[in-house]
Amino acid sequence: MRKQVIAGNWKMNKLMGEATQFVDEVKGQVPSFDQVESVVVAPFPYLPKLVQQAEGTDLKIGAQNMHFEESGAFTGEVSPEMLKDLGVTYVVLGHSERRELFAETDETVNKKTHAAFKHNLVPIVCVGETDEQRENGEAESVVETQVKAALKDLTNEQVKDVIIAYEPIWAIGTGKTATAEDANAMCASIRKVVSEFAGSEPAEAIRIQYGGSVKPANVDELMSQSDIDGALVGGASLQPDSFLSLVEAGK
Ligand code: 13P
Repeated sequence: MRKQVIAGNWKMNKLMGEATQFVDEVKGQVPSFDQVESVVVAPFPYLPKLVQQAEGTDLKIGAQNMHFEESGAFTGEVSPEMLKDLGVTYVVLGHSERRELFAETDETVNKKTHAAFKHNLVPIVCVGETDEQRENGEAESVVETQVKAALKDLTNEQVKDVIIAYEPIWAIGTGKTATAEDANAMCASIRKVVSEFAGSEPAEAIRIQYGGSVKPANVDELMSQSDIDGALVGGASLQPDSFLSLVEAGK
């Protein structure tokens, strides 16, 4: 039985006071970590403070990106070791906004996934097709390419610990959610790709989230699907009560 992971990706939102108030409010109310993994994926400047606030609770903190190199002349970048040093647990890699706006590629996502394991960070690797690719019937092959590239050269033990977030780009921030059946079909197709790539054991263990306009009103139906193991949520994760109802749905 795979444990669900519900992660709120705040993207570039909130000021420090709002971020700390949010964590203060939710940290004692999230379900136990044994039941569901509840994660706040916050902007870099807030990470040290939020990790400190959430320490000893069932709420975990994640970062939205990182570089794959250990250190060096990479102005503006943040290393895996820096995140680990702060006590960050998860890191989102290859979000479509980063692929589209910040030149993230399948190759850099793969390097970052390796770097995450090297530093004991749990990678949440995002994949997903555009509207046009779906209309052209290419959704599955596009996602397959992204998944294989991200997992390249990982050991099977590492593959088990990856979290893949299937986020169709046309569903992000648009209010257009994939139907639960379509989302589940793609998550099942990803699991099949993982099975062919790494074997049935990693494929059964790997967690696959759905993301794209998830909200309290549709989360139960999505989370009840057999191949969906959680959600990566943007807009609806910004308010404490909404975030709390999302994590409840992961139980
Ligand atoms: P929305 O939930 O706002 O559609 O964003 C999804 C997303 O991109 C999460 O990473």
